[in-house]
Amino acid sequence: MISPAVRRALRAGLASPLFVCAGLFAQEPFQFPTANHNLFIAGNESKFFAPTAPDKPWTSGSFGCVRNDGQRLHEGLDIVHLQTGKRGEPADPVMATADGTVVYISTKPSLSNYGNYLVIRHVVQGIEIYSLYAHLSAIQPGIAAGSSVKQGQVIATMGRTSNAEVIAKDRAHVHFELNLLVNDNFAAWFKTASQGERNDHGEWNGQNLNGLDPREILLAEHNQGTNFNLPNFIRSRTELCRVLVRATNFPYLKRYPMLVLRNPVAEKEGVVGYEIVLNLNGVAFALMPRAESEIKGRGKFQLLSVNEAEEKANPCRHLVVQRKGRWELANEGLRELEMLTY
Ligand SMILES: [Zn+2]
Repeated sequence: MISPAVRRALRAGLASPLFVCAGLFAQEPFQFPTANHNLFIAGNESKFFAPTAPDKPWTSGSFGCVRNDGQRLHEGLDIVHLQTGKRGEPADPVMATADGTVVYISTKPSLSNYGNYLVIRHVVQGIEIYSLYAHLSAIQPGIAAGSSVKQGQVIATMGRTSNAEVIAKDRAHVHFELNLLVNDNFAAWFKTASQGERNDHGEWNGQNLNGLDPREILLAEHNQGTNFNLPNFIRSRTELCRVLVRATNFPYLKRYPMLVLRNPVAEKEGVVGYEIVLNLNGVAFALMPRAESEIKGRGKFQLLSVNEAEEKANPCRHLVVQRKGRWELANEGLRELEMLTY
């Protein structure tokens, strides 16, 4: 139904119906990247997710430790196609999940397991977040790096591109991520940390984008309505482990000041490091400045604690490892911290 206010606006030629709807009704911060909304219908998950094979459960297309018997992370949602076009290819338009700016488009599918992919920068409730759309067949004409896009604007067409896997037509999907950016200096760090490996995507390499679970975000904003708050959502992730880093000047602190906590002791005595809380995927979701008087060891990276229940439930990033009954940072955990603090 069109409200009188909308009708007046339309009569006055003030705006298109689409614009008026977006302007007058409370918008959720994120919307689905395709017309597939089955996530919100209980029992319809199998019509929303594309599992990795017909005999696999829908959860294999969701976010988390869902691949290789729980030992490998899937960092986004595989949202199955609704529309089929020429020769059985997926035809769903892919839409921007929120207002933002396109920051990267890769149209050389041979250079990534994402195939053709596109990244958009958003600022939602004061916090920066990056959406990523992968396996695209085509980018919408007129969309380029630097383009401003509106929530719901068509940015691409779903496809099956990838340099790693053959995506069967029946499980054609968009791979959709919502990420925090780890480090502006990623490309320089990668050169030193991964010698001999190619990085064709600069800081828009997937390794520099740490995914949150978009399913949790979409469901939370759906259930909480205007009470949904993205910074609070991020701050309330489940702790996997807590580390101390002897580093005080890395880009993440400036990019995500909302995740940095206050500590009067460190403010008074001087900050010499940060106590950082990581979730299952290595997302740093709370950073506490620390003074020298509050720190015991000298190591650059010290593991302070492990939430064993969470590590047992979601071990697939292999950030920590138990050796002779003692928890230690594993190579992957050290790599994540090196990247964060570079
Ligand atoms: Zn995927």
